[in-house]
Amino acid sequence: MDVDEAHRIGAAEVAGLLGTDIAAGLDSRRAAELLAADGANLLSAARGKSAMRRFLEQFNNALIYVLLASALVTALLGEVVDTVVICAVVLANAVVGYLQEAKAEKALAALAAMAPDEAVAVRDGERVRLPAAELVRGDVVVLGEGDKVPADLRVAEAHRLAVDESALTGESLPVGKDPAAPPGEALGDRKNMAYAGTLVTAGSGTGIVTATGDATELGKVNRLVGAATAVRTPLTRKIDAFTKAVTVAILVLAVFTFAVGVLRGQEIAQMVTTAVALAVGAIPEGLPAIVTVTLAFGVSRMAARGAIVRRLPAVETLGGTTVICTDKTGTLTRNAMTVVTASAGGVPYALSGGGYDPAGEVRDAADRPVDAGALPALAELFTAGAACNDAGLAPDADGVWRIIGDPTEGALLVSAAKAGVPEPPERVDVIPFSSRAQYMATLHTDGTVYVKGSAERVLARCADALDAEGRTVALDRAEAEGEAAALGERALRVLAFARARGHEGPLEELPPLTFLGLQGMQDPPRPEAVAAVAACRTAGIEVKMITGDHLATARAIGGEIGLGGGAAVSGTELSSCAEEELPELARRASVFARVSPEDKLRLVNALRRDAQVVAMTGDGVNDAPALKQADIGVAMGVTGTEVAKEAADMVLTDDDFATVEAAVEEGRGVFDNIVKFMIWALPANLGLGLLLVAAVVLATDLPIEPLQVLWLNMTAVLILGLPFAVEPRDPDVMLRPPRPPDAPLVERPYVLRILLVSLILLAGSFGLFHLERAQGASLAVAQTVVVNVFALTLLTYLFACLSLNRPVLWGGVRRNPWVGVGALALVAIQLLYTYVPFMHSLFRSAPLTWAQWLPVLAVAVLAYLAVEVLKAIQRPRPLTPAEEGA
Ligand code: ADP
Ligand code: MG
Repeated sequence: MDVDEAHRIGAAEVAGLLGTDIAAGLDSRRAAELLAADGANLLSAARGKSAMRRFLEQFNNALIYVLLASALVTALLGEVVDTVVICAVVLANAVVGYLQEAKAEKALAALAAMAPDEAVAVRDGERVRLPAAELVRGDVVVLGEGDKVPADLRVAEAHRLAVDESALTGESLPVGKDPAAPPGEALGDRKNMAYAGTLVTAGSGTGIVTATGDATELGKVNRLVGAATAVRTPLTRKIDAFTKAVTVAILVLAVFTFAVGVLRGQEIAQMVTTAVALAVGAIPEGLPAIVTVTLAFGVSRMAARGAIVRRLPAVETLGGTTVICTDKTGTLTRNAMTVVTASAGGVPYALSGGGYDPAGEVRDAADRPVDAGALPALAELFTAGAACNDAGLAPDADGVWRIIGDPTEGALLVSAAKAGVPEPPERVDVIPFSSRAQYMATLHTDGTVYVKGSAERVLARCADALDAEGRTVALDRAEAEGEAAALGERALRVLAFARARGHEGPLEELPPLTFLGLQGMQDPPRPEAVAAVAACRTAGIEVKMITGDHLATARAIGGEIGLGGGAAVSGTELSSCAEEELPELARRASVFARVSPEDKLRLVNALRRDAQVVAMTGDGVNDAPALKQADIGVAMGVTGTEVAKEAADMVLTDDDFATVEAAVEEGRGVFDNIVKFMIWALPANLGLGLLLVAAVVLATDLPIEPLQVLWLNMTAVLILGLPFAVEPRDPDVMLRPPRPPDAPLVERPYVLRILLVSLILLAGSFGLFHLERAQGASLAVAQTVVVNVFALTLLTYLFACLSLNRPVLWGGVRRNPWVGVGALALVAIQLLYTYVPFMHSLFRSAPLTWAQWLPVLAVAVLAYLAVEVLKAIQRPRPLTPAEEGA
């Protein structure tokens, strides 16, 4: 029998077949050999569309059809040069589109590699955390709540282990796992197996790796599906829809113009040309590509600042965030816990030393070192902390003490080491900590049960207490609760400890406990989080702290972090609050303590009902529903469970609140850049459209020909448009309130700007065209004037668009050198267009004199000034000194 049949045989037999040991795991030499032989535990990248296919898809758009049709028409008319130029443009267009798309996809693909999966395995008898990619068959993997199963496993040990297999079987309810379960036929019935890609929703256990990488059941499915990264979001869809609608409208208009012209007796050839010029000029075909590229660059920039976007729409939603609900521990604070105070038998003690270094001692109220071993209650308190514990403590290669596991538990190992208490007896069962239950319990070989957890929950299970001498006495619950609250007011995280002796029967049936005392730990705020909270406030974004911690602790930390303003609400108040009053409470309060996962979900919903755009952080399995429900679910990359990450839109690589704020800032920047690009690009389309319609209506010569419009599209629009994708954020992005959730993409003031510039373009080009003609200039010269009016106005107007609200000129170039490069390139290329004979024959351009340039420049400068004046009138508030200087 081989390991493919692992579900049919016992775990020990599987271990034997794979040459491993359930308790000690593989030895690392053998693991390395197997890794070299079998390859990494990775799924081969799902194959997307082929490069050829993606290139060909670039041709699938209305404008290209128009161009190809006009290439055909010009060919039939014998205008070979035109045909060649149009075909060249079509090809260049496809190449540019393909490259942009490839770049965007590369940026997104790089994200997956930034957050590699990790796993805990037993190697050489020790638990080690390692990249899941390094697992090999025979490895013994340790599973905990919230983990993603890293490979196919034969379950060897399970404690209330439940796994969500929906990714594999579609079954949405978690499946209980049991090493002794009979072999099942279908995957979903194999209770003694855990499969790669499924999620541990509860409990803990171990399993022997039976298959890795593509050999796993997930690998088999994955190869069938072959999903590709899609670069589509609500915003890109909206813009696609907008572009499509405009395209249809323009095509209808083009046909209409053609018909009107022909009916009025104009030449058919000229009307074909006009209609084509109209279609080419007025369709904003570059829009979707720029939006996609801008989003992709935004994703890269967010990643560089520690925020990994898992779902692209998050980029645009982030910019509109109005409320951030954040965890306290580890996000606003460092999650570097140090026990600084303890109380046993009603007597307070202090602990010296810092960090996880177990050097330090326990002192009494008079600051004299005490021998904890001689004080039975104190000794039991620290023993309980070390016994009811899943963390590890050891110095690293540099001699710095580090913990593996939960910092709260690590701190308890440190305090036990400082007190010098003996090792607790071996453990036989455990109820792991969950934020729902707020406690953890362990059962040991001598029948002792140790429990630690929040003061309320532990005290609720206590029948009596130990006094300082170790005698069992009556429990003064009120006094113990008061003590816990007093520690909380000092911003300390409080854990209560209790025990029971001689327990028989299953651990779930916890006996009445004896209260041992409290330990209070310090967890200082992150300085950058304090700054980020302040930045959010300035940006009109509300910050709400949601924590499982004690109300007093939460309030004290909230004060230190700058959230002192609003009310602080406890979990009981929250859960008893009526649904219709919840939005009001959610608005008023800024600190929520002892919040259950259900209430977290209710809070998100209440805030969303209040028309807020809510970002919510979370790390645990129970946070997943709230993360999914929030507009932006944010999971912790370091301490977060895989379950939370799967549910989230964004993962923080550093768990830091400041990173959420940074991502919002980038999101606003991305949104701004897209809006700026639209404001900049649309007048060219509108202006060209109006110009051609005017020409037809007034039955004049054609002011601009299709080839010349194509020239503008390929040069001005492209050269000047690309800098928008790399345009840095405006310094004022976090100085203004969030965009209202229901605001249109391009708001009213900006529509006005677009109209203003379109009209200036229309008047300038049409006016100068006829002025030149009236003064006897050739058609070629007059058309060259028109092309230059558009090119140079787009150039000056670009500077007006670099900031939405304030004037920027050289500052814009300093900030984004590509603007300068684009500007110079455009001037150079327009000079070529105007003066090189080759261009004259290709595009029917002609040289201009100084006297002809001057009015062109005047129109361009006028457009810039007009927009700046309009901006100043529209400006909602005076500029800050920082903005003036920028
Ligand atoms: P948060 O992550 O918001 O700080 P938690 O849900 O982790 O909140 O903790 C809530 C309470 O549960 C803490 O105040 C503490 O008393 C208790 N607690 C935290 N971690 C553990 C643990 N590992 N074991 C037992 N109790 C814990
Ligand atoms: Mg926690």
